[in-house]
Amino acid sequence: MREESDTLRAMNFPVCLRPLTLAVLLCVSASAQSAAPAHGSAPAPASKASLGQPVQRPKWAIVLHGGAGVIDRNSMTPEVEAGYRAGINEALAAAEKILDRGGSALDAVEAAIQLLEDNPLFNAGRGAVFAADGTNQLDAAIMDGKTLRAGAVADVQRTRHPISLARAVMERSPSVMLIGPGADAFAASVHLEQVPPSFFFTERRWQALIRDLEKQGLPIPARPAGVPPPPAKPLSWMEAPDAHKFGTVGVVALDLHGNIAAGTSTGGTTAKRWNRVGDSPLIGAGTYASNDSCAVSATGTGEYFIRLTVARTICALVQYKGMGLQAAADEVIQRQLTALHGDGGIIALTADGQLAWSFNTPGMFRAKWQEGGKPQIAIYRDEP
Ligand code: ASP
Repeated sequence: MREESDTLRAMNFPVCLRPLTLAVLLCVSASAQSAAPAHGSAPAPASKASLGQPVQRPKWAIVLHGGAGVIDRNSMTPEVEAGYRAGINEALAAAEKILDRGGSALDAVEAAIQLLEDNPLFNAGRGAVFAADGTNQLDAAIMDGKTLRAGAVADVQRTRHPISLARAVMERSPSVMLIGPGADAFAASVHLEQVPPSFFFTERRWQALIRDLEKQGLPIPARPAGVPPPPAKPLSWMEAPDAHKFGTVGVVALDLHGNIAAGTSTGGTTAKRWNRVGDSPLIGAGTYASNDSCAVSATGTGEYFIRLTVARTICALVQYKGMGLQAAADEVIQRQLTALHGDGGIIALTADGQLAWSFNTPGMFRAKWQEGGKPQIAIYRDEP
């Protein structure tokens, strides 16, 4: 049986088109994976496999994250939680609208991330964390699972939507990755919206920077030009410096044509220095997509994700070891990343409709939705 399945895999049969006996088994196993727990290596709940029901690949699917970290109920008010859920809902709805009418996974990923970049709750675009020199240095990447084309940018400071710039790099330049002022200049040359750096400013991220620099004994940069004066009264919880330590955003999508795509956008880590770049814009580390394996977007302390090439490793386990997506994600996040004392998580999906997430932090803003089902949004570790 195993040999037969390997042979079929080698023949490059799409999983759900393999001969019926195998199709039932394999597609059912895909469903079991998508029903697996949100994190950890706890045993999967009774799956439809055990009920003997064949499962079809959904016509479209989305999985999204809004950052992983120390996110627990004690540190959230109902209003704050509602704010996050509303932002995630809005992004999901935008992606669903595109996918349901037959639009591409790439379009869905870009549209959802644009909304999250504009939402000051998330660490991407407006609301991004500050580097030690008082600037917002934005990173993003996008990858097309159908063609393996990819685009990425790092240290962008003037382009409103870094995810759209990453896509323009992929589609309208001969390069895969552009950085710094050159990346912004390219954005302007292809008429992507340019904004003053103050556009990305939020008071709470600024306060978080000051606290971080004070802790490290580093100099505090001047307040950026063109931003409102410091508030007279203390910030509300919603704006408190530690409330949004995380918040990188990522989306993976499967479209009606069976293609998958992944995108990630971030401000990186607070008080980063020397033009530090994390995993998010590095293809294979924080972002990856191939129709032959899977699409992944990561979030967490980027240095560990770079060293483990997390996104590509998960997809390689699926592609070459024949692992289910959830098992592959757990192998890399729960075992390998945890062994290195790295922290964070991923979202992922495959072209045959397996959906997964895995994280080793107390929480991860996350959501999934597939055709015929209801959107599922979760924040804390104990949620399904
Ligand atoms: N992975 C991002 C980075 O290291 C940060 C995050 O996801 O919170 O730049």
